[in-house]
Amino acid sequence: MTTYHIDLSICDRSPGCPARRACPQGAIVPVEGGAYPGGAGYTVIEERCTGCGACMRACPARAVSAR
Ligand code: SF4
Repeated sequence: MTTYHIDLSICDRSPGCPARRACPQGAIVPVEGGAYPGGAGYTVIEERCTGCGACMRACPARAVSAR
């Protein structure tokens, strides 16, 4: 199955992350340690991800890539 990855050097750390909102599995979560939820970026929980690709299509910064 395709797995998805969020490049934290590209992620704009939006508190309203469109990719997170687009994920039907709740697989995109904030990285711990941010000053606000998402302030340190986001990551994909692989165990929850079904590989649908919605996050990659939704991210305006194109921070999500498939592997
Ligand atoms: S590929 Fe689909 S299920 Fe996986 S993190 Fe992206 S939106 Fe969520």
